[in-house]
Amino acid sequence: MSKKSLKDGDITVTGEYLGVVEEFLPDKQSTFTKEGKIYATKTGMISINKQERKIEISTHQEKERKIVKVGDMVIGVILFSRQYSVGISFYTINNKIHFNSHYFGNIHVSQISDRYVEKIRDAFQITDIVRARVVEQNYNEYKLSTTGKNLGVIYADCVICGKPLIKIGYNKLRCERCGNQETRKLANDFENVSDNLRF
Ligand SMILES: [Zn+2]
Repeated sequence: MSKKSLKDGDITVTGEYLGVVEEFLPDKQSTFTKEGKIYATKTGMISINKQERKIEISTHQEKERKIVKVGDMVIGVILFSRQYSVGISFYTINNKIHFNSHYFGNIHVSQISDRYVEKIRDAFQITDIVRARVVEQNYNEYKLSTTGKNLGVIYADCVICGKPLIKIGYNKLRCERCGNQETRKLANDFENVSDNLRF
């Protein structure tokens, strides 16, 4: 038997010896068993279920993907704008910071507000930071919504000069430096956001 004792959360590589069947119940998807010995069939993090003694390997990708569900709140930045939707890269999911996450979602023009929004650019601009809710998941594509008072833009820069915009009215913003006025679908706590905006 190996002297190394494996712990929950340890990183393993494909082919590594994990233990014996007397110790663990091997997961068929991520391990293989030969002559009572269990080996990893993929590289990832060891997960040991203490009650069942079940051992399995999960990759980070799977682990993170599992935690994004319909109903989750996300904060992200608008990366691009199309005719009927904007694309958002997530910074956080349910207030947990996920640096370098590759989660990505879309907000369709019909999902921006309870009120009619004619043009995407009346509600969002590239680089805006937005709080949204996950309303649909299709593999790793997430559809988001900003209907609801607490959802929408929580930080925006002037499209002309880049200075942070100041709220001057309902969904109205103004740049103090150049005087440019813009509209957004604002979250009701714009300028009073408690979420960390420095990602
Ligand atoms: Zn400006």
